[in-house]
Amino acid sequence: INFVNTYSSLTSDEIIAKEKSNMDEKRFKHCIGVSQTSRKLAKLNNYDPDKAALAGFIHDYAKQVAPERFIKVIKEQNFDPDLLNYNRAIWHGIVGAYFIEKELKITDPEILTAIRRHTTADVEMTTLDKIVFIADFIEPGRDFSGVEEARKIAYANLDDGVGFELAHTLDFLITNRKKIYPKTFAAYNKWSVKD
Ligand code: GDP
Ligand code: FE
Ligand code: FE
Ligand code: FE
Repeated sequence: INFVNTYSSLTSDEIIAKEKSNMDEKRFKHCIGVSQTSRKLAKLNNYDPDKAALAGFIHDYAKQVAPERFIKVIKEQNFDPDLLNYNRAIWHGIVGAYFIEKELKITDPEILTAIRRHTTADVEMTTLDKIVFIADFIEPGRDFSGVEEARKIAYANLDDGVGFELAHTLDFLITNRKKIYPKTFAAYNKWSVKD
């Protein structure tokens, strides 16, 4: 793992150490994969590769933070109370950005927004948002039926990659009767619908 870090008062080594101590080995490997894939997607789309690599590396920083800590932050920092109807699958991006700002000392709004949007996506998506959202889905460690098609589509066109991923995720959530976060629906309507 490597990235030039101009976005935190911590050193790259300090960020790597904090990231590693905040999650298990499997999740850490996934974050390295997302970082590398983010770098690759950035180069293909004329985006700053080091910024993308950093955002991808830290995107799941809060994935294994204790639920009680999330609930406390949602209540005390005035997040939308509707978030309490969801769980860490949704919290680790939207609320996780708070932990990333506080603990990894990242203040760059573009990076923090990409973290917030990496699970649900949104109607508005910047280039970095799309890169991290897609890299999370297609990094080398991902192995689900459809991942090869997702990779092909995403490497050819970022917007098509977002549309494919959202359709695939909605499909999965509906099949398993999972509660759908409203932003995920809105994003699907924006990026996946062909009409
Ligand atoms: P990960 O953190 O690398 O596992 O990946 P993500 O952050 O993209 O997604 C975390 C989990 O949230 C996945 O299992 C997604 O399928 C799930 N997810 C995505 N959108 C929604 C949603 O609207 N509602 C619910 N309940 N889960 C969702
Ligand atoms: Fe995630
Ligand atoms: Fe994702
Ligand atoms: Fe992830």
